[in-house]
Amino acid sequence: MLHNNLDINKDGHLTISGVDAIELAKEYGTPLYVLDEDMIRERCRTYVSEMHKYFSADSAPLFASKALCFKGIYPIVESEGLCTDVVSPGEIYTALAAGFPPEKMFFHGTNKTDRDIEYGVESGVGYFIIDNMNELESLARIAGEHGIVQKALLRLTCGLDPHTLEAINTGKVDSQFGVPIDTGQADAFVKAAAACSNIQVVGFHSHVGSQIFESDSFNRQAEILVAYAAKARDEFGLEIDTLNIGGGIGVRYTENDPAPDIGARVAEIAEHLNAACEKYGVKIDRVFMEPGRSIVAEAGTTLYETGGVKEVKGYRNYVTVDGGMTDNPRFALYKSEYTVLNASRASEPADYEVTVAGRCCESGDRIAEGVKIAKPERGDIIAVLTTGAYNYAMSSNYNRIPKPAIAIVSGGKHRLAVKRESFEDMMRNEL
Ligand SMILES: *Cc1c(COP(=O)(O)O)cnc(C)c1O
Repeated sequence: MLHNNLDINKDGHLTISGVDAIELAKEYGTPLYVLDEDMIRERCRTYVSEMHKYFSADSAPLFASKALCFKGIYPIVESEGLCTDVVSPGEIYTALAAGFPPEKMFFHGTNKTDRDIEYGVESGVGYFIIDNMNELESLARIAGEHGIVQKALLRLTCGLDPHTLEAINTGKVDSQFGVPIDTGQADAFVKAAAACSNIQVVGFHSHVGSQIFESDSFNRQAEILVAYAAKARDEFGLEIDTLNIGGGIGVRYTENDPAPDIGARVAEIAEHLNAACEKYGVKIDRVFMEPGRSIVAEAGTTLYETGGVKEVKGYRNYVTVDGGMTDNPRFALYKSEYTVLNASRASEPADYEVTVAGRCCESGDRIAEGVKIAKPERGDIIAVLTTGAYNYAMSSNYNRIPKPAIAIVSGGKHRLAVKRESFEDMMRNEL
């Protein structure tokens, strides 16, 4: 199977971490997000142990909240030694409500309003990641008004193209994220930041993109940031000791994707980073990485109930499920590929080619096209793999469809982590 936590039991049902998927669907209803906590913990441990092989004990992975934000994720990642990256007051609020320490939060976002900045400062977030000059000015003023010195990193773009989808490619010069080094604009940004008495710039941040398998962009990024740290020190008198090199390590959506090798990526990045430090005489005491997808994506499976099987003569076969773009908009957004299987007939040959369509009145509401599964009947449970990242986090109530529940499996047991939305929940704010 695509992931090593998946198997088939004697009833021919898919199992997730030893738990029968059909039982989960019966117990919690469908559509259902199933998250394998043990796999999430294992990924966290891999990042922590691999990073600590090459970087100081103060170095850490930050869980990128935007990949999967709900209360129950924070105690899991915190207990594994991760910090977290948050991109909005809503994510800060959720992490705080879960008891996550604010000093371990890194506040991202390309447009933080003054209210957002105040909320971050008042919540005591450890680090701001300053995206641009306007934000720098606002943060300096607001930190001053609160009588604090706010620790921060400056977001720079390194002019790299990591060959991923355009929509998730963030590190190029022409980008709305951060300030480019190539155009010289980073120089003014760094000079201005160094002059702010209420902001302590500890380091630089950069993020090349997402779902990246090649190592070259990560390696080049580390070198560019170190070289720029030397320039900032020599020309602008700003000495930094921290680099945050972003997230983006790819995961396996289909058999065509390579299995992620986090250890190899970290080792290569460390090699390039340390060599650059040597070359430029720069001392970096702490390194942060920001994995989101590679922590949670493969640990997630979505279960749907089959509605209809429609064979459009001369064209194709459609299987409709009781969810779709409302719980997983990634096909509609990026034409993302997924591995789909018939969880009710997991031991039967997967020889029936289908397009899996959702329930919205929208022809783009699809989960996958041209995938082969065991021919389903109405009522069969369909499993879509690798849905732990950017599914629940991107879900909506389009067509007034309530958001699914999240069930967590661990050690052969299961529990509810997020209740299914009710109609009343959707109407809560309507007067
Ligand atoms: C999206 C994002 C991440 C996480 O990316 P993944 O591909 O999920 O690892 C990390 N840092 C920043 C700044 C991001 O925008």
